[in-house]
Parts: sequence; C-alpha cells; structure tokens
Amino acid sequence: MSIKMKPSDPAFWMLFDGITTTPTVYNANCYICRDSEFAQMGLPLCYACLVCGGHVAADDGVCDNGHYQPTCPHDELEIRQVYRLEVSQELLDQCKEV
Ligand SMILES: [Zn+2]
Ligand SMILES: [Zn+2]
Repeated sequence: MSIKMKPSDPAFWMLFDGITTTPTVYNANCYICRDSEFAQMGLPLCYACLVCGGHVAADDGVCDNGHYQPTCPHDELEIRQVYRLEVSQELLDQCKEV
C-alpha cells in the first residue's frame, strides 16, 4: 500500500539528495520496512523497541509486542523506570531541561 512519488510531489527531490537511512529493525509484514523509498528520502524508519528490541513501525509508536515508545525524554525516563532499564545521566539532565 505504498503511494508512488510523482515528480510534482514537494518531497520528490528528497529521493535524490543522497540521504539514506538504514532500518535497524526489519519486519517483512511492515510497509515502511518493505518500501525502500522511505529510506531513500531519509524519512523516519522503523526502529528497535526501547524495552524488548522488537520492531516498532515508524508511524506507530508501539512495538510488535505492545510496548509504547517514548515521544520525549520524560516518556523515556518513565518507561525506563517502569521496566527497570538503565537510566543515563544524560537522560536525567534532558528531563530537567525540558
Ligand atoms: Zn517496519
Ligand atoms: Zn517491545
């Protein structure tokens, strides 16, 4: 269900600017993982779950195992605390600033 880019699309030039992102997690059932145009345009790609390392679709925010992903440092701190993951000083500093 991917929509092919037309030259009139404002984002069409992005296909040629040489920026590519590499998916860290691949799910063959996911249209973002399957469509190389997302990577060619340097768009956000699927990533590994903070909690279990599973596939999180770039437009979803929930991993294949149902873990919610943080959208800001506060979220991340909370999720890390809930799952007893390591909390870096950097993250704590970020939360103070925001
Ligand atoms: Zn994906
Ligand atoms: Zn997960």
